[in-house]
Amino acid sequence: MFKGIVVEKDEAGYRATLKDIDNAQLPEGNVTVRVSHSTLNYKDALAITGRGPVVRKFPLVPGIDLVGTVEETSHPDYRVGDSVLLNGWGVGEGHWGGLAQKARLNGEWLVPLPERFTAQQAMAIGTAGYTAMLCVLALERHDVTPDKGEIVVTGAGGGVGSVAVALLSKLGYAVVGVTGRPQERDYIKSLGATDVLERSTFCVPGKPLGRERWAGAVDVVGSYTLANVCATTKYRGVVTACGLAAGMDFPATVAPFILRGVTLVGIDSVMCPRTERLMAWQRLAEDLDITKLGLIANEIGLTDVIPTATKLLDGQVRGRVIVNVD
Ligand code: NDP
Repeated sequence: MFKGIVVEKDEAGYRATLKDIDNAQLPEGNVTVRVSHSTLNYKDALAITGRGPVVRKFPLVPGIDLVGTVEETSHPDYRVGDSVLLNGWGVGEGHWGGLAQKARLNGEWLVPLPERFTAQQAMAIGTAGYTAMLCVLALERHDVTPDKGEIVVTGAGGGVGSVAVALLSKLGYAVVGVTGRPQERDYIKSLGATDVLERSTFCVPGKPLGRERWAGAVDVVGSYTLANVCATTKYRGVVTACGLAAGMDFPATVAPFILRGVTLVGIDSVMCPRTERLMAWQRLAEDLDITKLGLIANEIGLTDVIPTATKLLDGQVRGRVIVNVD
């Protein structure tokens, strides 16, 4: 038996509970991992609370991230005792995930834990941080170099936003954070932002084109915020869109794209090919100032996961949440 969060949906309703789980209930897979840490991402919070249609199969252990040690394996690339990491691939959505002491997975989904990181540091980064790195890689691929001008990061007080600010500032970019929480201004500056703007002017309907300011953007918010960011991006600037914290809609015009040559790049971490994941983790190991992870992440236990999920969706959680599953 082992402990884990289980999401169920039946005649008694939708609920998440911390339970004892029998080994025999583990799903199919060729690698069994003794999980040491997981995390709480926005998507996990949706799965736990049922506020978004994330869970595709019931019962399900949520948790899109995990780190741990291989306990059993029939996969040629892994041996018992190896330290491994997992982000995405539908784990915690359609396949049992990381918010439990054990997981059984397809070895193709695993990434060796980079030597530079402890288990806690890898989970302080987690899917949110790896997604932030995918945004940075996309900006670089489109030639957004630090000399081109300011990069705006929306939702800067959250998980993706915090890591994006830390990464971009370490790489020499001038980073402007956008937040709805004025109390997090000093925190966002301590991660390296040169300026912090108030969210209210971004999340309301704006003009098709505004004053050109951003060379690039990392947007986790979607909706009017993404539209306004595109409308104020400089000629030939690049906007990376990875989130929907304010909504799935995109109430924009084509003006920034056809009059200013702005590029909108979609970022997906879930099905991202393995080579790009390995590259993202390698770049995180090289380019992230790990002392910043101490500012970004807080650790909780499995018993705190369910109440913390509600707080996260209510915008009350700063940075990243590491879950110690022991
Ligand atoms: P967090 O909850 O940690 O951060 C989201 C932040 O967005 C909040 O902290 C808040 O920042 C801001 N925010 C929340 N609600 C609103 C709102 N209504 N209007 C404007 N801003 C808002 O989540 P994550 O950082 O983990 O994830 C952010 C988004 O990115 C989510 O939508 C998530 O689903 C998505 N995501 C996508 C991935 C992909 O593969 N494409 C991977 C990972 C995440 P502040 O308080 O500073 O304003």
